[in-house]
Amino acid sequence: MEFDPQALLLIKFICLLTGTAAIAWGLIAQPLKIATLASMRFSLANICVLLGITLNTQRTESDSYFYWFCADIAILLGFIMLRWGTQYLFRLQHSARFDLTTLAITAVLMLMVPPNFHSEPVLAMLFSANAALSFVMLTRDNYYAIRRETGNKVAIAMVMPLIAMVIIFAIRFFIALFAPHETQTFIAIHTVEAIPMLWFYVFLALLINIVMIGNAMTRLVSKIRVLAEKDQLTGLWNRRAMQKRLSHIHQRWQKKAEPYSVILLDLDHFKHINDHYGHDVGDIALLSAARLFSSALREHDVLCRHGGEEFLVLLPATSSQAARVVADKLHRILRENPINWQDKKVQLCASVGYATIYQGCQPDKLLIEADHAMYRAKSEGRDRICQALTTQ
Ligand code: GH3
Ligand code: MG
Ligand code: MG
Repeated sequence: MEFDPQALLLIKFICLLTGTAAIAWGLIAQPLKIATLASMRFSLANICVLLGITLNTQRTESDSYFYWFCADIAILLGFIMLRWGTQYLFRLQHSARFDLTTLAITAVLMLMVPPNFHSEPVLAMLFSANAALSFVMLTRDNYYAIRRETGNKVAIAMVMPLIAMVIIFAIRFFIALFAPHETQTFIAIHTVEAIPMLWFYVFLALLINIVMIGNAMTRLVSKIRVLAEKDQLTGLWNRRAMQKRLSHIHQRWQKKAEPYSVILLDLDHFKHINDHYGHDVGDIALLSAARLFSSALREHDVLCRHGGEEFLVLLPATSSQAARVVADKLHRILRENPINWQDKKVQLCASVGYATIYQGCQPDKLLIEADHAMYRAKSEGRDRICQALTTQ
């Protein structure tokens, strides 16, 4: 068999690329243990594509299920592995049944034609249809996952290469359908005619791995961000995250003149709970209070653990009257839901202070005013709500 030297070089390059990527993802999975299940799938994806392309290069005039059917299925399986890796990475719902069913249907249809040059238009059509579908589904998974982590604009930018793959495979499908003689370009991968096709495979291998690295980075950064901004015990926002949100809400107020309010809740005699029942019960009490408050708030309210047994709520677009209603609700829900500990009920209550923004007041000052209001509630006998003196 005559190999074109440039085609041969490109084939070697593709093998090197996918082989290196397979090893790199394998090392990320083990021993580095970074997103092990996802990295494993990305490694397998590269192995499948490497295998498929290697088999593809062996195609000759004679029939061979190995070099036609197996080569195509290996590459398609590689695309499915990419999707599964993405699903593990972003903890999405698994789509194994759907993916394997479509692959099985494609495989059965491929087996209905002889594995040789004459069947190439049909095989190319089936291969391209399945590949386009895989990339459509991969685009969908990536878009929703990245949008959730970073927002719409980044998600659109990051799925662009995947959309390009969908378009390329769709074009290939229509070429196979309407101009079957053109598919000859895709057949003999080792010939000079196949060079554009081989460059496409180089592009494919690079692109897939760049997108997956981008995904892994997105996930990693968002995990780090969560660790930096969330309280470990309750899972609520911490003080640092609260400061950021407070300044956003304040900017909104300056633009739209929609007043916002803050509520500070400090659990009463919490030291006594720790001393009497133990520190673990104290932790359970904090967790319970966090859950109760979360359940009572609106989606855009911001609940954070402000300190040991202190919680702070930011209420965007909330007047002082509305803040009073929310403060009452939080105060009541805590009183009405004592925690159960060894058949005993541990009663929780809180002293609550709230304040509403007004012209000339800065966020830091507003927090101090809510704090003063909370301390007034403490000094007046605890288990009650006080409004900041500046709030009308
Ligand atoms: P007051 O009614 O005046 O607020 O009294 P208090 O006992 O609630 O307030 P104090 O500031 O005297 O004590 C707060 C206690 O909260 C002391 C501290 O050990 C406890 N605490 C802070 N963080 C945690 C935590 O993460 N877990 C547990 N179990 N206890 C905590
Ligand atoms: Mg306190
Ligand atoms: Mg307290």
